[in-house]
Amino acid sequence: HQQLKAAHTELESFFNNSMIGVVILRGGRTIHQVNQRTVDIFRGKSADDFVGKSVSDFHLSEEHFEEFGKQFFNSLVSRDAIQIEYQLKRMDGSLVWVSASGKALDESDPPDLKKGVIWMLDDISKRKEAEQRLADMALKDSLTGVNNRGNFMDLGRREHGRHLRHGRPLTVFMLDLDHFKSINDRFGHAMGDKALVHFANICRHNLRTSDCIGRLGGEEFAIFLPETTGEQAIPLARRILQQVSAPPEDGRDLPPISVSIGIAEAQNDSDFSELLRRADSFLYRAKEAGRNRMEYGKPST
Ligand code: GH3
Ligand code: MG
Ligand code: MG
Repeated sequence: HQQLKAAHTELESFFNNSMIGVVILRGGRTIHQVNQRTVDIFRGKSADDFVGKSVSDFHLSEEHFEEFGKQFFNSLVSRDAIQIEYQLKRMDGSLVWVSASGKALDESDPPDLKKGVIWMLDDISKRKEAEQRLADMALKDSLTGVNNRGNFMDLGRREHGRHLRHGRPLTVFMLDLDHFKSINDRFGHAMGDKALVHFANICRHNLRTSDCIGRLGGEEFAIFLPETTGEQAIPLARRILQQVSAPPEDGRDLPPISVSIGIAEAQNDSDFSELLRRADSFLYRAKEAGRNRMEYGKPST
C-alpha cells in the first residue's frame, strides 16, 4: 500500500511540475484533468476552471472544433500519435499557438476514446510570431509595410493572368512623390521617411481589400485595381491626390508633399510589366504637366 502511495505521489509530482501542458479528456471531448502548465498556458486561475469543460471552449469557433474532430478522430482510433501545431483560444480570449501531441489512453484495438485521450501541449506563440515576422520581411517593405517590389510583381502578374483569361477590367496606378529629393534636403531624411509612411497609409486606407499596393523602390509606388476600369478608378486617384497634398488630419508636423499619378487600364498588354510601363508613361506626362496631378490614358477603341 505504501509503495502504491509513493508511486502515486511521484506521478502526481511529475504531472504537476511538468514543463509541458498535460490534458486528459474523458467521455468524448470533456476535460477530465489538466496540470499547472496547462493552467498557465491558457491563463486560467486553477485546474478547477478547466475540469468538466468541453474542449470546444478553447477552439477559435464551433467550426474549428468540428473540423479538428473530423481531422484527427481516425488517427486517434488507429492509435497513431498525433503531432500538430494549432491555434487555440485562452481563457481571457487571447490566441495561443500550441504544439500538441495526442494519443488514446485505452489499450484495446480499436481504443475506446471515451475512456480517455491524453494531450501534451507546448506554447509556441513566440516562435510562430518570429516566423510570421520573417515571412512578412520576405514580402513587405520594412519602412511602409506595403508589399515589396518582388511580391507586388508576383501578385500583379497573377492578376493580369486572370484579366487575360476572363476579360475582366484591370487598372494600374504608378505613383511617384514630387520633388522628393528636395523634401529630404529641406527637412532631413528621417522626415522624408515619415512622409513616405504617411503617403503609404493614405493609399492603404483608400483601397478596397481586393486592391493591391506595392513600393517599387525609393519614392515610387504602384497600385493595381482588379475589376475596375480606368474611368472607375479616377475618383480614387483624385482622393489620393487631395489627401496627400493636404496637411495630415491628425495634426502631425510633416513635410508638405504631393504625388503624381499615371493611370492605365489593361488593354492588349502582353504582360503585367507592359501595363506598368504604360502607366509609367502617363506618370511621366503628369510630371511634365506640372506634378500634383493624374494623367489617364483612355484605352483606344
Ligand atoms: P520628381 O518630382 O521628378 O519625382 O522629383 P524627385 O526629387 O522626387 O525625383 P528623384 O528621382 O530625383 O529623387 C527621388 C528622391 O527620393 C531621392 C531620394 O533621396 C529620395 N528617396 C528615395 N528613397 C527614399 C527613402 O527610403 N527615404 C527617404 N527619406 N528618401 C528617399
Ligand atoms: Mg519623385
Ligand atoms: Mg522617382
